[in-house]
Amino acid sequence: MIQEIKKQSGSAFTIKKGQILTVIDPKGQQVSDMVLFNKNDLNEKLSAGKTMDFEESILITTSNFIWSNRSNKMVKIIEDTNGRNDFLLAPCSPETFKIMYNHKGYHPSCLENLHKNLEPYGISLDDVPTAFNIFMNVQFSEQGKLSVDPPTSKPGDYIKFEAQMDLLVGLTACSAEDSNGGSFKPIHYKVS
Ligand SMILES: [Zn+2]
Repeated sequence: MIQEIKKQSGSAFTIKKGQILTVIDPKGQQVSDMVLFNKNDLNEKLSAGKTMDFEESILITTSNFIWSNRSNKMVKIIEDTNGRNDFLLAPCSPETFKIMYNHKGYHPSCLENLHKNLEPYGISLDDVPTAFNIFMNVQFSEQGKLSVDPPTSKPGDYIKFEAQMDLLVGLTACSAEDSNGGSFKPIHYKVS
């Protein structure tokens, strides 16, 4: 059954080893931040550094694994119809909108939406790691200059992860204007 994460919100759920998590961009150009924890030991979580180290790439897509801070495989990407994801940038947070957008007042964020949904499982705000940013289009120059461009994902694009251990998953429909081509859309997912 397909579940919907409404625009600028999030979800958390558990999946078992061997199950497939499919994350779908139903309308196109919408980023989804994903964090993973070992369901049986929440101090083990996905690691951008370990993943880029062991996969020898900063662009993680089909056939790559996402690794944990304890150097264990957490998921394998078995299909990725868009093919562009980011693992460099931390989840957008209330501070992101103050510092980078000069926004005044409340603004929804992935960090808040991850924390709010993961808290019942025992995850604190400081426990939330750098997310795997599905469909996020971060470009970088040879000099290392970064830019956040609109996603290249089209309506219906999806990515499939095969769980390598029992997992607690946090997932959002990202709330940052620049990451999503200026408009906010839902994210769909299913577990099979
Ligand atoms: Zn975000």
